[in-house]
Amino acid sequence: MPELDWDLQKYDRQLKKGFKSLSFTQELEVEFRNFFHARNVVKQRGAILVGIILLLILVPLDVAYLEGDVLEFYLISRVWITVPVLIVALLFTFKERLRRYFSVFSFFIITFIGITTNVSVIYSQMTHIYAPYEGAMLLIMVAFFLGGMYFRQSLSCIVIIALSYLVLSEIYLPHEQYQLHRYFFIFATCLIGGVSAYTFEYQVRISFLQRGALKCLAKTDHLTGLYNRGALNQKLTHLTEYAFREKKPITLMLVDVDYFKNFNDFYGHIKGDRCLVEVAAALAKNCQRPLDFVGRYGGEEFLLMWFDAAPNEAKGFAEKTKASVDRLQIPHQQSQVSDHVTLSGGMITGVPSHANQAETILNQADQCLYRAKESGRNRIVIQDLGDENNIADLVK
Ligand code: GH3
Ligand code: MG
Ligand code: MG
Repeated sequence: MPELDWDLQKYDRQLKKGFKSLSFTQELEVEFRNFFHARNVVKQRGAILVGIILLLILVPLDVAYLEGDVLEFYLISRVWITVPVLIVALLFTFKERLRRYFSVFSFFIITFIGITTNVSVIYSQMTHIYAPYEGAMLLIMVAFFLGGMYFRQSLSCIVIIALSYLVLSEIYLPHEQYQLHRYFFIFATCLIGGVSAYTFEYQVRISFLQRGALKCLAKTDHLTGLYNRGALNQKLTHLTEYAFREKKPITLMLVDVDYFKNFNDFYGHIKGDRCLVEVAAALAKNCQRPLDFVGRYGGEEFLLMWFDAAPNEAKGFAEKTKASVDRLQIPHQQSQVSDHVTLSGGMITGVPSHANQAETILNQADQCLYRAKESGRNRIVIQDLGDENNIADLVK
């Protein structure tokens, strides 16, 4: 099925191509970001709570040594701005619509805390009050690991925080003792945190791609590349319920290759496999609108479904499908109905009702297939949904 194949290939292609810059193709990047936000929400809430608690623990410690203008600046930036903003951020995480802006929000708030911390530290040292600069190192780690940001966002945030420290101290404290040591420790924290955060996001992206590929593989029939039985059942149930709710018609067809056991016995299993692959590809071309699907029901049986197709289109679908396999002209000397591979099919068409849900519809299609086999093979029996005794049409 092109849809499945395309899905599988997009994960595979990206894995092979690599993503050193930590970005995927546009379609995958959107999917990854949704996955990232859904996975991160609990972590984000925890991080904000930890952030608020740490800030509140620090406030009395900082207030004990700060004084004058620095104290005022500190109280406004830390207590009156940062804490309320963090509480708003926490509320953000409960609103699904706002959640995807969380990383941008995080970028601004952590950058703000970083710059105001640097200003407080440098300002107090200018007035000869010792203020610990290590807070900047803690913030670098928060930005890399707790902010719920993508690596590139956290890197920009950290560059701004580290540069602001460097610029402010070079301007206002040019001859401070141990200044070079401080630069060194801040730089080393950025380096170690950065490499770890990059590696972490790289791994998360790999597991996202592998998970996507595995999900596709779990739905795929390995021989034909179509949906397998499990995926078919799921899609059938889902779309039948949807059609029932929306009062939309569906057309379901179960087809079976005629005298396929004879084909295998005469031409061998390998040619038998090749025949099934060709038949599958031909069938797939007939179900290409977004909600249509086709899959391998088992052995040499396939299930096709057309969603929201008017009942008078059904015969056309049956004709097209049968003709697409006839056109392959796969020789079949052991068939008693033709000199090439043919299909028999049972088709049901109509709007699902309470009495006619997925399983019943499938049973009815199976009954029609049985009738097609009984009445000579190489034909498709069409019935209206729920009208079990009357053949609505026949395609030979
Ligand atoms: P009918 O016209 O009544 O459908 O007869 P038939 O011979 O097609 O039906 P039957 O159920 O007797 O045989 C189906 C055959 O399909 C038997 C099995 O070996 C073959 N088959 C099922 N799966 C595969 C497969 O994956 N590869 C190959 N080569 N053959 C398969
Ligand atoms: Mg069969
Ligand atoms: Mg058969």
